[in-house]
Formats: sequence, structure tokens, C-alpha cells
Amino acid sequence: MKVVTRFAPSPTGYLHVGGVRTALFSYAYAKKNKGDFLLRIEDTDIERSSENAINAILDGMKWLGLEHDKTIQYQTKRLDLYKKYINTMIESGDAYYCYASKEELDNLRDEQIKKGDKPRYDGRWRPEYGKALPQPPKDASPTIRFKNPKTGIVKWIDLVKGEININNEELDDFIIARSDGTPTYNFCVVIDDWDMDVSHVIRGDDHINNTPRQINLLNSLKAPIPNYAHLSMIHGPDGQKLSKRHGSVNVMQYKEDGYLSESLNNYLARLGWSHGDDEKFSMESFCEWFDFEHVTSSSAQFDKAKLDWLNGEYIKEYDINKLTEMAALKLNQINCPANNKEIIRNALNLYKDRETNLNTLFENIVYFFKKPEIDIELESKYINEVSRKNIKALVDSLQRIKWQEDDINQCIKDFVKNNGLKFPEIAMPLRVRVAGNLNTPNIGSIIYVLGLDELKVRVSDCL
Ligand code: GLU
Repeated sequence: MKVVTRFAPSPTGYLHVGGVRTALFSYAYAKKNKGDFLLRIEDTDIERSSENAINAILDGMKWLGLEHDKTIQYQTKRLDLYKKYINTMIESGDAYYCYASKEELDNLRDEQIKKGDKPRYDGRWRPEYGKALPQPPKDASPTIRFKNPKTGIVKWIDLVKGEININNEELDDFIIARSDGTPTYNFCVVIDDWDMDVSHVIRGDDHINNTPRQINLLNSLKAPIPNYAHLSMIHGPDGQKLSKRHGSVNVMQYKEDGYLSESLNNYLARLGWSHGDDEKFSMESFCEWFDFEHVTSSSAQFDKAKLDWLNGEYIKEYDINKLTEMAALKLNQINCPANNKEIIRNALNLYKDRETNLNTLFENIVYFFKKPEIDIELESKYINEVSRKNIKALVDSLQRIKWQEDDINQCIKDFVKNNGLKFPEIAMPLRVRVAGNLNTPNIGSIIYVLGLDELKVRVSDCL
């Protein structure tokens, strides 16, 4: 059997981390089994779906490299297929017209709640042997309901949750087509999963209630039943379902906020699934290792500190040329004219092992391209007659050596020694002038990257 998985977002909102993790697991399972990973946009809820949301989902998938196989399917383009099967089910007697008005159904619901019963459709229009149905009202547009079995148990072995049994008595005859003829979610999913030969339905466990209904529909259509894997929810640090409050926003916001797609993928892959003690692994390894035995059935907790740590680990090892391109783009966006790729590369090399975020990494190197603003407090603390004199003397020495990092460092060391200074007595004032802050890597390395001419500009008043 060929493994076919799918990611089936409804474009009623952005792609958020919960959705991404579902997509990641579906992607990995397909890749591991040399199968197909499909992307299906479930856009039949016209009022709540939007073009913006579709684009945001596609952008997110692209950024994360979750490439789908085959062409993207849009449910709104498949309405004829759904109609065909609805008619088949009406003909076979597996579905029927229901003329109950909204008001009638609301009353039914109220009564059931009043009695303490679970609200459910009472089957008033369900055709039954020997049962006389009322006369359909004139000009009414009926809904179409599925004739759900009244007895028996729906059972499946969920790949994450284990065996699940649902008594048919708990289900009612749900609507498969609305009064305007449009098919409902459960129906479209069933037809699509069947038509697209989906072998594994991997989705959030908020869909677990739909699964017995979908299995019953598939059975009535004599379609094969796929495997199901229902993933537990992702919770915030406070144990509540992840929400906007926790930063569960458009996944593209993470890009904006300085995260690499590699770190986010790695972090989310590890959220609710494990491979021994491995915390950092490539997408290739993830696809090779992924299995359902190591997916936890309990909820996972989103931990930003861990994501930040992973991001830092990825930044350290990131291809320096790619990082340079990203930095050039970002620096120019924030009006910092950084065109010399060699300086960008060298500056990044000085900072990339210290930062866990791309934005702060890039902000840290702005001073290589833009003279820092004078910080009055630092200036008054570190710049005085003596430090000015020292800076001038050091620059004089630096002018006489070959502009090489090692030589510059040696020159500073010698200068400190020969003048009986402590290292910070020259390093701190230089940091203030060169970088505008004290928290920098080795001063000699900075000066090397900055170049002698620019150094002289920044300390011109001392010379
Ligand atoms: N469209 C559904 C959603 O976005 C997912 C359906 C499914 O995976 O079966 O929640």
C-alpha cells in the first residue's frame, strides 16, 4: 500500500504552529515511506475563508520547505464530485432529505437541554420501514442527512491514541449537504480522502469526534478506511491551549522575529515526538526517524526558551554566505547601508556564536556600517584626557603594522604592556567609540573588521 498523507487546512486563519506541526508529521511520515504528501485547501466555508489566509498558508509552507506532492487541491473546485456522491447516497437510501426548519431544530435542542439530554437530531425525517413521514412543506429547501447506523460500535486503532470505540447511539444523522446544496466538512473530507487515496489521516485531536462519523460515511460508500493519527494539542507554558496570547500567530511572524525555518521545524518536530535524547536534528534525519510509536498522546507544551536555544545552535552552524545575504537584506531594510559582503561576513563571524536570534545578530553588526550614536553616559565615563592620549598613541602604532587580525591583537597587547596599562583601560574607551556599547567581542578583532580608515574617523577627536 502506498503511503499518502495530506495536510488539509481551512483557510479561515493563518498557518500557526499547531498546523505546522500537523503538516510536519504528515510530511515526514510520507517521506519516510516514500509516499506522497498532499496539500488540500478546505475552503468550502466561503464566508470564513479568504484569499489572504490561503496565501499566508502557502507562504508559510514554502518558508518551512514543506513541499507538497501533486497539485494543490481546492475543495471549492470539487463541488461537482461531492454532488455526485450525495446523489448516489440519496439513491441508495444512505442519505435522506430533512425538512425540519431551523426554528424546529432550535426548539428540539432547547427541550433536550432542559431535560438534561445531549442535543441531537431526533430522526424525524429519517425514512424507516413502516414509518409514515410527514408531507414535505411546500417550497422548502431541505438539508440532506446521513443515515447513521443506529446500533453497533465504530472502532479504530488510532496510531497515537490507541483503540477508540464510539457507540453509534451517541451519534446522530448529521447534515451532509446544507439547504443551499453545499456539502459540509465531514462529507468533503471523506470524499477527498477516498478520492485522493489517502492512507493516513494525521490531524489534531480536535477532530476526533468527526472520525466515527467519517468512518460510517466511508463504510456506507464501501470505501476503504484510512489509518488515523490524532495529535494532541500544543499548550502554552500556562497549560492552556496555545493561543494568540502565547504567540500562536501566523508562522511567518517567526521569520519576522528572527527565527530560522530550520530551528522552527526542528523545534516543532520534537514537540510531542522524540528520538532518544536527540534535540537537534536535520529535516532528513527527522523524516528518516519519524514514527508514531514515539508520538506522545498527552499534550505538548510550547517552550520559547528551547526554541531560542535551538535557533542559536542553528545560527552558529549556518552557512555563512547565506547568513551574509540575509544580513545584507535586513540591514538595508533598516536603513543601514551595508554593501560590503566581506565586512558583513567577518562581522557576523564575530557575533554569530553569541546570539540566539537573527534580528539581534544583525542589529549587533550595524555599527560596522554606521557610526554609533554617542552614548553620553559611556562617553563621560570612559573618554577623558588620558584615554584620548592612549587612543592616539595606539592608533599611531596600528598605522605602522600590517593590517592582519593577529598583528592587531599583538600590537594592542604590546601597547598595554609597554605603557603599564590594564587591558580594559584601552579596550573600553575604544568600544565606546567604535561600537557605542561595551558588550562586544574582542576589540582587536572588531578593529580589524572595521578597518584603519573607519577607526580613525571614529576616534578623530583623539588624534
Ligand atoms: N480542515 C480541517 C482543519 O483545518 C482539517 C481537516 C482534516 O485534517 O481532516 O481543521
